[in-house]
Amino acid sequence: MLNVMQHSRPRRAAAILVGLLHVLSAPVTAWAQIPQPAEPASAASSPASAAEAHSHADAALTRQHRMRHLAERALVPPETLKAQCRYESEITTPPPAKKIVLTFDDGPEPGATEAILKVLAQHHAPATFFMIGEKVERYPELVAQVLAQHPQGLASHSWSHPNFHDIPPATQEVEVRRSEQELQRVVPDDKLFRYPYGNSSCETNALLHTLGYRIVGWHIDTCDWAFDRNGSVDAREALECGVLAQNRKDYLAHVLSAARAHNGGIVLMHEIHPRTVAQLDALLSELEKAGFSFGSIRDADFQDTLR
Ligand SMILES: [Zn+2]
Repeated sequence: MLNVMQHSRPRRAAAILVGLLHVLSAPVTAWAQIPQPAEPASAASSPASAAEAHSHADAALTRQHRMRHLAERALVPPETLKAQCRYESEITTPPPAKKIVLTFDDGPEPGATEAILKVLAQHHAPATFFMIGEKVERYPELVAQVLAQHPQGLASHSWSHPNFHDIPPATQEVEVRRSEQELQRVVPDDKLFRYPYGNSSCETNALLHTLGYRIVGWHIDTCDWAFDRNGSVDAREALECGVLAQNRKDYLAHVLSAARAHNGGIVLMHEIHPRTVAQLDALLSELEKAGFSFGSIRDADFQDTLR
């Protein structure tokens, strides 16, 4: 986030104030229940299918957790957050120049996984899939398809995708170990982990390192959950994801702009949002046109960006 933040600090500070007035009007203890804005009744935003309805529900949940992040970042002293190892997923180490690593979270997802694999093959792009353990168990045939095309493309995203800040360390450990058990059936050497919502903890950091994991965050937050919800992001979502004002209605422009600001990096996307998947081909073409190449998270020159 470095470049984006540095170049827009005054605007960012103003947006923090405006955005937080709304967030803070809810009691601090009720952040998890921050009311969701009503969906506009336009055809474009009405769920067209069960998959899209599922995506909307998930985006609303993601929004709740991400807005808590935004509020905490503004209210809690940075040294306190650091002491608690919270929110370490935004990578501050620069990526290798002009190199993009694609990551897809929250799968496998019937329909989406196959579509993503097809687009990746067309662009000869490697990718890493941070999968939810219970979905790995449910969709073994999709896992097999991913592994056939990306033998090193599987990684853990916990067992059931809870917010690790809402559950005690012992339950966090169950989430890590149960997911590992499931993934090890198919990839014995799988040792990459990404926290759900990026919400890290000191206890699980220590556990993951003891178990031999590298922890993976992101440089470029596509904010796909917010763009997919309404096709545009509001001021608070923009603040949370680093979306510049001029890109708040344009998903592709936002990702391109963030990629340029970081000069490459690990890109965070989600399999579960149909429109994200639908725009993948266009996104990869734009990135190629802009001179970026696609690498793997396992490449030697990306190891500095992992924890
Ligand atoms: Zn996730």
